Amino acid sequence: MFLRENTRAVSVGAVTIGGGAPISVQSMTNVFTHQKEACLEQIKRLAAAGADLVRLAVPGPEDTAVLKELVAQSPVPLIGDVHFHFDRALEAVAAGVAKIRLNPGNITERAKVEQVIRSCADHGVAIRVGVNSGSIRARSGSSKKKDSQEPLPKLMVDKISAYLDIFSACDFDQVILSAKCSQVRQTVQVYRALAERFDFPLHLGFTAAGVLETGLVKNSLALGKLLAEGIGDTLRVSLTADPVEEVLAAKEILYNLGLRERNEPEVISCPSCGRCRVDLIKVVRQARIRLARIKAPLRVAIMGCEVNGPGEAAEADYALCMGPKKALLYRNGQPAGTTPFETMLDELIKLVNERSE
Ligand code: SF4
Repeated sequence: MFLRENTRAVSVGAVTIGGGAPISVQSMTNVFTHQKEACLEQIKRLAAAGADLVRLAVPGPEDTAVLKELVAQSPVPLIGDVHFHFDRALEAVAAGVAKIRLNPGNITERAKVEQVIRSCADHGVAIRVGVNSGSIRARSGSSKKKDSQEPLPKLMVDKISAYLDIFSACDFDQVILSAKCSQVRQTVQVYRALAERFDFPLHLGFTAAGVLETGLVKNSLALGKLLAEGIGDTLRVSLTADPVEEVLAAKEILYNLGLRERNEPEVISCPSCGRCRVDLIKVVRQARIRLARIKAPLRVAIMGCEVNGPGEAAEADYALCMGPKKALLYRNGQPAGTTPFETMLDELIKLVNERSE
């Protein structure tokens, strides 16, 4: 049973976050935003993989300078990620982003925050107030010693609460909250505390989760636990990996919790062993990413050899099974031809596309 927290609805372009809207998936580009073509290419890859929203770093004026064009060409709403320089926030809003993220740990001057809030109100732009454990612990001055004795979740919630005073004074409620840590237990604690105290929608995620295997476990445990408790309105699965992996992982979490209906192929594959004649890990990874663009709840098996290949193929809508010199294609459990290893992914996608069209 999933009891969604009753959160306010916040519009981020065409996407609604909170208020019972479907939980949205987001990721962040990891190329320089000012390298417009590379950035746009990555935005499109993320959107094709299933991202509902894409966030971009805008550390310099050269980054906000290209935002207008990126916004115009992006298939999904864009979010400007702002740290340290409130000017970047104003520039991003003027360029047409649907949301900005502000870090209360490094944009602190009240008059400047108010100016950003007013600009967002004028342009219909939402704001995520996002604290990270790193910037909370880095608080300087006389409070540092005291801070270090306080539990991190409490410090983070207090920081957000103080920052939100500025927003309520400006009568601005298009707000989303996040408090990102690097540990599972802290993440669960801080988001539970946020859900208890505020009715703004929550953006779930980690500040630093780790490489693929570490990050997947951490994200699945913490975000899965919170979502199962009804906490969370949008998520980013942070991974030190291709951001497309973040999108695929976020969707898997939602599918497996029954919070999103699978609308893309599920790829079943064997672990491979000494009988397999191709780099199956690479083949399956590429297939997973390419098949995510097909919007149909199909089961696709990719098997390393004839030992278990035909058996799995019989259970799948489509299958690719490695033979000694070629790969065998299956459709609905029946042989559908052979293909050289070099072109097998293209052939598989073609076969699946024939059905889904
Ligand atoms: S299907 Fe073949 S390659 Fe894959 S694990 Fe089984 S025996 Fe090995």
